Amino acid sequence: MSATKDTGGTHVVTRFAPSPTGFLHIGGARTALFNLLFARHHNGKFLLRIEDTDRARSTQPAIEAILDGMTWLGLDWDGEVTYQFARADRHAAVAHAMVEKGAAYRCYLTQDELAGMRAEAEANKKPLRIRSPWREKTHDGDTPFVVRLKAPTEGATTIADLVQGEVTVQNSEIDDLVLLRSDGTPTYMLAVVVDDHDMGVTHVIRGDDHLNNAFRQLPIYKAMGWPEPHYAHIPLIHGSDGAKLSKRHGALGVDAYRDEMGLLPEAVSNYLLRLGWGHGDDEIISREQAIKWFDLAGVGKSPSRFDMKKLENLNGYYIRASDDAVLADLVAARMPFEVGEEQRDLLRRSMGALKPRAANLLELCDGAWFLFRTRPLELDDDAAALLEGNARAILVRLHAALDGVAGWDTEALEAAVRTVADDAGIKLGAAAQPLRAALTGRKTSPGIFDVLALLGREESLGRIADQMPLPG
Ligand code: GLU
Repeated sequence: MSATKDTGGTHVVTRFAPSPTGFLHIGGARTALFNLLFARHHNGKFLLRIEDTDRARSTQPAIEAILDGMTWLGLDWDGEVTYQFARADRHAAVAHAMVEKGAAYRCYLTQDELAGMRAEAEANKKPLRIRSPWREKTHDGDTPFVVRLKAPTEGATTIADLVQGEVTVQNSEIDDLVLLRSDGTPTYMLAVVVDDHDMGVTHVIRGDDHLNNAFRQLPIYKAMGWPEPHYAHIPLIHGSDGAKLSKRHGALGVDAYRDEMGLLPEAVSNYLLRLGWGHGDDEIISREQAIKWFDLAGVGKSPSRFDMKKLENLNGYYIRASDDAVLADLVAARMPFEVGEEQRDLLRRSMGALKPRAANLLELCDGAWFLFRTRPLELDDDAAALLEGNARAILVRLHAALDGVAGWDTEALEAAVRTVADDAGIKLGAAAQPLRAALTGRKTSPGIFDVLALLGREESLGRIADQMPLPG
């Protein structure tokens, strides 16, 4: 892997440039991931720029959600975060420099004139492409003006997009877009280019909803004589039904994947990588491998479909592969009470029994819940039903047998329960079910011998005794 081979000798710099108008959604996280992997693969830099120029829609909580989500997913950016709004003076200076060079002009079109142009375009069923009469004229008064790009009118522009391939647009389609508003503030289109240039960005990797913008941004590079970046526009993520991803498909903030769904960052990150990029049939790909393997040639051209089931399965894999102590801490943090050292240790020891049954941290917590219940247990309806008939009489025999078990290990416990079942002429399950109800208060739990072993002798015998019929 060389820093130069696939990148024409440039030192790679990528960036993720979210607008802080909402949470960090799953599509944004994938864009950030691809930028990070591409940069790391080429020993380059991955930068973060918060595009907060839209003052009305940008919020501090959104900025925090983005930083928090990226940190959680291990999308570690290099250096300081760049805040776009703080650079407004620099953006304006570039717009003025473009006017000086004749690549942009002051446009004095009034709102009425613009409305007239819009109405005319609508009547002709054509998109509005402004070619202002002020392209070639100047004005001396202090009438308000905007600065517009003097867009090329002849010929065509071709982008050799690293994902989409060659895309050509006739220059007549590119309008004289506004660079500076009449209040002197820069537009998004100008700010992106100036910032990308100043940050030394060599590869712009972003959603393909920005492909059209690339054709409007390139003239700014050309006008300033700046090196043009390589572009890679990645297809958006669609829902499992093929429609554009919406909330109902899982287009939530990454915090929802963490908090509400209890997913692990490794699983989300691995899933996002596979969503739109492939390396043979590999499904489980560590960050390290991803950095080694990632290339833009492996990014598909068509939209990928978000599949919650796959993500859940992958998460189950990562839960099983996770370190018990790490999982115990994650579960402890989700418990509705302060987990002490002894309880944390118990959680740690329980993971072997709990992990295989859990696809997410919610299920892991649910599985661990029986450990911390207080006696006498309140039984849910299913568990209560398991203790009807002669089940409580079985509990009496189980209690006696278990009380006699010398070493409290799963083998000895299983042998004791089997003996009771055999003596009573019932199946093992018929003995295990009432036992489960008494020990956990529920109908389902980890393997019953694990439950006994984890609860320990005293607690287990106590919980069984609580459910035994009163003598007499
Ligand atoms: N701020 C833009 C967005 O959030 C991204 C701009 C870019 O990547 O060039 O959609």
